[in-house]
Amino acid sequence: MEDNPKHQGQRRQLVDILLEKGIENTQVLEALREVPRHWFMDPSLAEWAYVDKAYPIAAEQTISQPYTVAYQTELLELQPGAKVLEIGTGSGYQSAVLLHLGMQLFTIERQQELYKNTKRLFSKLGLRPKKMIFGDGYKGLPEKAPFDGIIVTAAAPELPKDLLGQLAIGGRLVIPIGTQEQFMFRYTRRSQTQFDREKLGAFRFVPMLEDKN
Ligand code: SAH
Repeated sequence: MEDNPKHQGQRRQLVDILLEKGIENTQVLEALREVPRHWFMDPSLAEWAYVDKAYPIAAEQTISQPYTVAYQTELLELQPGAKVLEIGTGSGYQSAVLLHLGMQLFTIERQQELYKNTKRLFSKLGLRPKKMIFGDGYKGLPEKAPFDGIIVTAAAPELPKDLLGQLAIGGRLVIPIGTQEQFMFRYTRRSQTQFDREKLGAFRFVPMLEDKN
């Protein structure tokens, strides 16, 4: 797939914007400078790929805004090789950023169409998550737990309790919670039973879908 100097220049400008908006982690900024976001969007929208906005993808979902991708990734505070669970594969852009950072990625998507398209795209791009799952992310992925990080990319009406139990000690869950109004939350596991909870900024995400089974 094509990635020309114009795209690269637009990504450098995007990274300047992310810096101004407060993203500090150098590795995260580097990943956003290197991963071609236009590969994860409909070709008809490609010219807007480096505008800091969410855009429609299939199945009435959206590709997250670059700032949101950078912000959530930064909040995970992970080192290369860490085990990460992503809920809401969607376009695969956030997944590609995590893979670029050297994470062992497990990712779950609820919409069959997106699951299939993104799986095909990943093999075309040579991107290799440990596992891509078509299913309901509410319950996480107990058979692969514990995770160093769990990132949820759709808004949950409330905290999905099962996810906390799948964090390693020291692991972090980054999740937007709320219906009309949504806030980013970060839960850090301190021990078997103790978690720190931080309420962060306001965001707008597509809602997490209920289990269809
Ligand atoms: N990370 C994606 C964001 C896509 S939007 C990207 O960068 O493109 C959120 C995604 O979460 C959608 O694709 C939606 O279908 C998916 N989703 C919603 N509810 C889900 C659930 N219960 N389990 C897994 N995925 C879900």
